[in-house]
Amino acid sequence: MRTGPSQDEIRRQNLGALLRHVHVHGATTRAELTNTLGLNRSTIGALTADLAAAGLVVEGAPKETGRAGRPSLVVRPESARVFAYACSIEVDRLRAARVGLGGAVLDRRELDRPRGLSAAEVAPLLAGAVKEMRHALPADAVCVGAGVAVCGMVRRDDGLVRLGPTTGWVDEPIGTTLGSELGVDVPVLVGNVAEVAAFAEHARGAAAGCDNVIYLYGDVGVGAGIIAGGRRLTGHGGYSGEVGHMVVVPDGARCECGNRGCWETEIGEHALLRAAGRSDARGRDAVLAVFDAADNGDARAQTAVRQAGDWLGFGVANLVNIFNPEMVIFGGTMRDLYLAAAAQIRSRLNCNGLPACLEHVRLRTPKLGADAPLIGAAELAFERLLADPLDIG
Ligand SMILES: [Zn+2]
Repeated sequence: MRTGPSQDEIRRQNLGALLRHVHVHGATTRAELTNTLGLNRSTIGALTADLAAAGLVVEGAPKETGRAGRPSLVVRPESARVFAYACSIEVDRLRAARVGLGGAVLDRRELDRPRGLSAAEVAPLLAGAVKEMRHALPADAVCVGAGVAVCGMVRRDDGLVRLGPTTGWVDEPIGTTLGSELGVDVPVLVGNVAEVAAFAEHARGAAAGCDNVIYLYGDVGVGAGIIAGGRRLTGHGGYSGEVGHMVVVPDGARCECGNRGCWETEIGEHALLRAAGRSDARGRDAVLAVFDAADNGDARAQTAVRQAGDWLGFGVANLVNIFNPEMVIFGGTMRDLYLAAAAQIRSRLNCNGLPACLEHVRLRTPKLGADAPLIGAAELAFERLLADPLDIG
């Protein structure tokens, strides 16, 4: 005979649901929690007491409402005490942060990253940044996990970076390498930078409340984090979202993946710099200089931005037709390209998008800005905590 979930399983699920709510939405009254979670007041009281005893939430009086009657107690996440380490390995920079439960960045470090640094060279640099932050920890701080966002194809099961076309990495176990450098006794979870940025924007950013979202992240290459039906679309092995390698020009320019004519050879860093007559330059600052020059009337830069914008719109139209998202978010250098060439992008989208797919699609920049990969990396770690709040070791 099949039996339903045990009382203990139900309690753990409810603890996770309550903690998730205050993690995402911040301070919430007991009355709101009762309504939102569909549980009775005494259950909410007992769950809150358990989470407070575990040091994960704190209860207190609400801010003055001016309303008569006894105010409902407010439950807040222990944001300053409970935290995850988050790292972001980008083409030109390395970032490390301490992100509190509730999603606030509590501390951060940033380092330039000379291109071509191996995983073995990157790990001690990030570990050094984390150790600096560790020295400044409050005495009662509790680390519940660590996450890393990395430019590259990440195997879902174990976080192995199968290929980092812009980093030159092949089959790098960066989570394990970083974990042993850090000396933390929590697993270091790994995700693709676009995937975790999408996760963050969906949880608490521009796409909060949207169930179908595409987050495009660009630097040298271009990748997408895709939320479909409210869930992250990972594909079988974890490699979905490699939209930069859609072939759009047969026999086009050589791509870093080895193919020719991939979408990123028309909208990525090399394409923009080449079209602007700046083939010798590279890096994010050089890309931003093209947008500045276009703004200041440089005809060649304007043409480069228009061309890249047209290609961006072309690919976005295809993605909109395939995934029918309600929002497309432009992150990394795609944000700057979107802002500089919005007219080309919208025109191409209107031309190539299917009317039914265009009906409700909104184009946006990230609400979390450049912090989205860091906050998303921390969310990977918080997911473990939220799955079973009292079992975190
Ligand atoms: Zn390619």
